[in-house]
Amino acid sequence: MSETSGTSTGSPRLRAELDGVPTYKPGKPAAAGGPVAFKLSSNENPYPPLPGVLESVVAGADTFNRYPDMACTGLMEELAERFGVPVSHLATGTGSVGVAQSLLQATSGPGDEVIYAWRSFEAYPIITQISGATSVQVPLTDGEVHDLDAMAEAITDRTRLIFVCNPNNPTGTAVRRAELERFLDRVPSDVLVVLDEAYKEFVRDPEIPDGIELYRDRPNVAVLRTFSKAYGLAGLRVGFAVAHEPVAAALRKTAVPFGVSQLAQDAAVASLRAEDELLGRVGSLVAERERVRAALVAQGWTVPDTQANFVWLRLGERTADFAAACERHGVVVRPFAGEGVRVTIGEGEANDLFLQAAEGFRKEL
Ligand SMILES: *Cc1c(COP(=O)(O)O)cnc(C)c1O
Repeated sequence: MSETSGTSTGSPRLRAELDGVPTYKPGKPAAAGGPVAFKLSSNENPYPPLPGVLESVVAGADTFNRYPDMACTGLMEELAERFGVPVSHLATGTGSVGVAQSLLQATSGPGDEVIYAWRSFEAYPIITQISGATSVQVPLTDGEVHDLDAMAEAITDRTRLIFVCNPNNPTGTAVRRAELERFLDRVPSDVLVVLDEAYKEFVRDPEIPDGIELYRDRPNVAVLRTFSKAYGLAGLRVGFAVAHEPVAAALRKTAVPFGVSQLAQDAAVASLRAEDELLGRVGSLVAERERVRAALVAQGWTVPDTQANFVWLRLGERTADFAAACERHGVVVRPFAGEGVRVTIGEGEANDLFLQAAEGFRKEL
């Protein structure tokens, strides 16, 4: 038998880059059957789908024997109108993580470097490693904010892409216009800067820029947005990028064909049309965020200023104990072992339970 006859006992050869890829840790679900249980672990929107949005999805459900519109025509037109950008500057994907993965596929491979802050969104190291490129992680400042000067200094000839998560997941902190513009001015024009604005709609600080304004005269800036958070469509998987040609064209090339279902496209269009109502809900969540943060500060916690739908507590080695204390109070949070806990702003009742847990924990310190 020849060596290539297929009878060897080894397993198929897989790319070495996959060795040791960290696995994405989804937020733990609320315990079924518990007394009260709220999931504050995945930055989801606690409001159920709007009736009009739900109807549009249900109305389209009787044709899911068909493939969706691959070009997402209706959604692209709606987005172009809403954000004042040409359709040719848009690309959609299976959530903004799907689009981020396409961005890496389009720019980076073995030997290339991808810069991002750390700690930041846990998908970055995963999708970077899968692409074969090397992660260059630049620590957040002591104030838990992107260290843009250090990130600029980390740029080398091999840098292909830089993620700026604004506001940052999991700390909620955001970089302001002047510092971000100064950073963008320092980045070579052949390096793509990706402004990940998954939480844009929750931002209230007027000094925090809208990436879509920054991208307009900067061909090396791409903006990622998602329908998963403010618009409450996390389960349908739809996000998009705004970028100049040829970046947007490369994204459309690398996207999984028919990745965004027709249900997701219809829901996204209906959500843009119901934006006032959805942004009203975002306003309520922002009010809750401010209430929760003020209460935590009053309890004695240090909480970074958050512009997103979550708060961050740097608990260090007490992280796991704190998460367990929250679960005893009926709320599931997102611990990052040895670092801290991210807690999503949810229903008022859930937030109250979390505050009770935090207060009790604080007293025992
Ligand atoms: C939640 C989140 C996303 C969005 O993910 P989707 O794939 O669109 O659901 C993207 N970036 C960051 C930083 C996030 O926290």
